[in-house]
Amino acid sequence: MIIVLKAHASPPDIQRVIEEVRQCGYEPHVIRGVARTVVAAVGDETTQQTLETLASLAAVEKVLPIQKRYKLVSREAQPETTIVPVGPHRLGTRDFHVIAGPCSVEDLDQMLCVAEAAQAAGATLLRGGAYKPRTSPYDFQGLGEKGLAILREVKERTGMPIVSEVVSEADLAPMLEVVDVLQIGARNMMNYALLAAVSRTGRPVLLKRGLAATIEEWFLAAEYLAKHGNPHVLLCERGIRTFERATRNTLDISAVAIAKQESNLPVIVDPSHAAGRTDLITALSRAAIAAGADGLMIEVHPHPEKASSDGPQSLTPNQFAELMQAIRPVLAACERRLPGKTATPKTTGSITQSSIPKEIGS
Ligand code: PEP
Ligand code: MN
Repeated sequence: MIIVLKAHASPPDIQRVIEEVRQCGYEPHVIRGVARTVVAAVGDETTQQTLETLASLAAVEKVLPIQKRYKLVSREAQPETTIVPVGPHRLGTRDFHVIAGPCSVEDLDQMLCVAEAAQAAGATLLRGGAYKPRTSPYDFQGLGEKGLAILREVKERTGMPIVSEVVSEADLAPMLEVVDVLQIGARNMMNYALLAAVSRTGRPVLLKRGLAATIEEWFLAAEYLAKHGNPHVLLCERGIRTFERATRNTLDISAVAIAKQESNLPVIVDPSHAAGRTDLITALSRAAIAAGADGLMIEVHPHPEKASSDGPQSLTPNQFAELMQAIRPVLAACERRLPGKTATPKTTGSITQSSIPKEIGS
């Protein structure tokens, strides 16, 4: 930390700061400039007491942290990207993974139709919410355990690993029976008790960025997951709330590039919740790949006009197949590839080396 003193700071003021720094376990180094004095506090900022409270001293102008507040998920601490194993897949490698499925699980026919079409078009993971965090309490809240039973059936039939949102610690036990990647939704990114509980399960996590969360807050939420023992975190940029009304949210492409640069976690982009409309999904998906994303999450529904949630942003299976074709040239330009068809083990969370997907023509 750097403690910048006010221009009028007297020698006793400076001495007081030096003593406080020492008491907090840091080594103070005084730098006397022409106009002001600065105290550099040397020590590990992540494990020792924060010196930010020194800003309350009358002689202190500001306290500036030097180290990043997140450590485990930073590229500084671990230069190579964390590989997240999901069923037979390894996210965070050259393979580019597309997660597809409806916003909410509604019935078996709906899920099977989407899963088969999405898989045929090249999607590797199936999404579908059994528990829905809806803004209005009068909106469809999800099928709960009935939805999980549908997901289990579709997983058994197609072999696709399942991504599904957890909204409460109380639902974790039944979810762990079927869900391969636990999604933490935008509304729960700052639910630190839920993050800790989800981390302790050891199951891979897809962590959505909060509606109004800074990139640092998003990384710190990931740090909670890593600190509680689970390094298998996928960061998901899904758009943030801005003044713009043309889209449901604003896809923050800079956040994708920054997340790739500063964190060691794979990054997934969800253009569906960012745009809130279908006509932008292809453009945003291509932009996401160009910015370095490791995967996409796309909402797909057999009849978007009848969907229980997020119909206006859901692609039909045919539109999804077109999207998968449209991203291929960009994937090739970025030296990424769509994984080929794989064996379909029914267990969750394990990785089978022999079934790591092979490249298919792009
Ligand atoms: C969802 O994935 O359907 C969802 C509710 O997402 P978000 O948390 O990004 O709003
Ligand atoms: Mn949705």
